[in-house]
Amino acid sequence: MRALGTILLVALFAVTALAAPQKPVANSGLTCPVSGEAIKSLKKAPSVQYEGRSIYFCCKKCVGEFNTNPAKYAPKQVVRCPVSGEVVKDPGKAQTASYKGRSYYFCCAKCKPEFSKNPEKYAKAQGKAQGNRSGMQHEEHSH
Ligand SMILES: [Zn+2]
Ligand SMILES: [Zn+2]
Repeated sequence: MRALGTILLVALFAVTALAAPQKPVANSGLTCPVSGEAIKSLKKAPSVQYEGRSIYFCCKKCVGEFNTNPAKYAPKQVVRCPVSGEVVKDPGKAQTASYKGRSYYFCCAKCKPEFSKNPEKYAKAQGKAQGNRSGMQHEEHSH
């Protein structure tokens, strides 16, 4: 019986080890504009061209849904360069950096070294800009 207990314990450990996040999972930092799900890798994600930029999706189903109403979904995925504030036309091909577990995309090769010089400043600026857009209704509760 003791042996069985040990096996159970080992099995339990194995499950726990699998479930526990060992390393931060690769994450593009972008979310699918249709489902809102995180997109893990832009290289593997399906994308479409819309108004001169590339929009990425979690799966092909969402691409179909996007095509039924692109004007509704496109604004939900706008990637901006944290340094210049410009829209990054194709984050899948852009220069990227990660800072504190977040991914940042740059409009050009010049902005990445600029970001690296002072990541905290630029990360904060971008967090603010995005917070203002998505957190409107929470504003009153933050005081
Ligand atoms: Zn999807
Ligand atoms: Zn730039």
